Amino acid sequence: GDMQLETELLILGSGPGGYGAAFRAADLGLEVTVVDPAPAPGGACLHHGCIPSKTFLHLAGLIHDAKRAREMGVHFGTAEIDIATLSAWKEKTINELAGSLSTLFTQRNIELIHGHASFIDSRSVRLQGGGISKITFQHAIIATGSRPTSFSAVDFDSSDRILSSTEALQLAEIPGKLLVVGGGIIGLELGSIYSSFGSKVSLVEKEKRILPQVDKDLVEPLFSNLAAEFDTLATHTEAIKIRAQEEYVEVELETDGIKTNKRYDKIIVATGRSPNSNRLDLENTDVKLDTAGFIEIDDTLRTDDKNIFAIGDVTGHPMLAHRATRQGQTAAEVIAGQPSAYDIRAVPATIYTDPQISWCGLTEQEAHEHSLPYEVRKFPWKYSDRARSMGRTDGLTKLLTDPDSGRILGMGIVGRGAENLIAEAVLSIEMGALAEDLALTLHPYPSLSETEAEAAELFSGAAIHF
Ligand code: FAD
Repeated sequence: GDMQLETELLILGSGPGGYGAAFRAADLGLEVTVVDPAPAPGGACLHHGCIPSKTFLHLAGLIHDAKRAREMGVHFGTAEIDIATLSAWKEKTINELAGSLSTLFTQRNIELIHGHASFIDSRSVRLQGGGISKITFQHAIIATGSRPTSFSAVDFDSSDRILSSTEALQLAEIPGKLLVVGGGIIGLELGSIYSSFGSKVSLVEKEKRILPQVDKDLVEPLFSNLAAEFDTLATHTEAIKIRAQEEYVEVELETDGIKTNKRYDKIIVATGRSPNSNRLDLENTDVKLDTAGFIEIDDTLRTDDKNIFAIGDVTGHPMLAHRATRQGQTAAEVIAGQPSAYDIRAVPATIYTDPQISWCGLTEQEAHEHSLPYEVRKFPWKYSDRARSMGRTDGLTKLLTDPDSGRILGMGIVGRGAENLIAEAVLSIEMGALAEDLALTLHPYPSLSETEAEAAELFSGAAIHF
């Protein structure tokens, strides 16, 4: 149609970035319109990312725990996977969360319009796929997220044997032999899911190690677990050619110049994500992109076009939901006239594998790369009474501090439950806490949270259990 609309604040995208911005803006009294071509709000995170992956990883964790319980004298038998029920559970979870989000939009009188927006100029967009054709705005926030990147060897649409993370999380079937290309967070999480549901998983990573951005000592316990569980876990190995046939996929792998051909039932390509900045007609605005296509922003989330802000995955790394949401809230505050800025000292990141890895603030690797001074103490979980009682001594808690002040600069944790343990470190860093503050804070015994206090105790001598 040719219906037109005027709004104070237009938000492109209803993912964690878009809804974070929309809710804060509405709460601050702005009139807000959100557009998204997807059938339901929530973005990649809710529909193809965080939520489906964590739903499946929860079950993968149960399967692992059941196997471990055998050594302790409790037998559950073999896991039987009923794909239809499993998929229905995942869909139900997503639909309920999308429904709750829709309610929150309605309660705040935020209009959610269906359509794909692209810029006419710095004050208006054209819409495709909805009843409204043009929206004029005073301010706009671009929160269009990212999509799976394919690499030269692959065309996702060429065969249903070649899957992106989006398709892999549809979990249409559990293939017998599966290759995962990419040893980053997404590849490792998907490999773990399929492996625990019964696939023979091979994973290849072209770098020298999996998770190259994470400290080596944190990756080791995960690497050895996955190396034992997967059929193969090969680093320094690149998938060069991928050819889908009727009955299988043929892959040419190269390790140190040596090429081999392998066949798999399916392959998951998890080699990175690209920003959704290419179909927005940004050349009609003053918005600038970097060489990778990410939208350039300042610390108030403003682009080079004064009316237009950008948040979340479309602005670059780290591509995480909680970062997108906070950026969105901040952009809304700036647009509402508040003196706000995105000034985060510690962004927590978690890999929800078994064991999990979480870190925040400075990593040892970063400190080395930038020659930053730091002190580090490490508390191995074999000295944690709680870890022993659970048979989970495959953990490590490490703490980085500033050598002059003793302030906590970073924490890294590998081990069960790292996702929750890291929160204390994030607060410590945001509050400017010293290692001593953490050491003097009482932690419940026997709990894994003690590993954080004990790592802190190591700065002033011995920890109680180490
Ligand atoms: P998105 O969530 O991608 O939302 C963008 C929205 O914009 C989409 O709904 C899209 O339809 C819409 N859109 C696109 N173009 C237009 C347009 N032209 N006009 C209007 N609307 C448009 N992060 C975590 O923090 N924790 C996790 O556990 C986690 N797990 C993940 C697992 C997987 C498999 C994947 C792929 C990602 C995961 N992430 C995780 C990353 C997380 O999903 C992203 O960081 C997050 O979704 C970014 O939010 P966003 O709002 O920037 O974009």
